[in-house]
Amino acid sequence: MVLSELKKQVDFLCDNGHGDNPVLVTLSEASIGSRAATGITGIHSGIDWERGQVRISTEKKIISYGKDRDEVIEPRREDYNIGSRTRHLFICSKCENQLRKDDNYCSHCGQRVKK
Ligand SMILES: [Zn+2]
Repeated sequence: MVLSELKKQVDFLCDNGHGDNPVLVTLSEASIGSRAATGITGIHSGIDWERGQVRISTEKKIISYGKDRDEVIEPRREDYNIGSRTRHLFICSKCENQLRKDDNYCSHCGQRVKK
């Protein structure tokens, strides 16, 4: 989206009674009730590497993990021996959290994992 398209949509909302509503950015994280969101603290033109861009700053950090959390990823398996028995540990390959055998999602980062 370019700035002039954003302006048209903002103008439409302002012209239709939403001018005093808070503006939020929806976050890709689990929430109960309304979707998780953060506020906007500013909008400015980019400089140097960001020249030609318009940047919006938010109150909370928005982090790209590089992988979609709903994409199923293969957990890392670590085998180790205790006496004559071999134990398997499954580790979330995104955040290194130890998974339980039947987990569909990592309890730490929320990444969907293959059983
Ligand atoms: Zn994880």
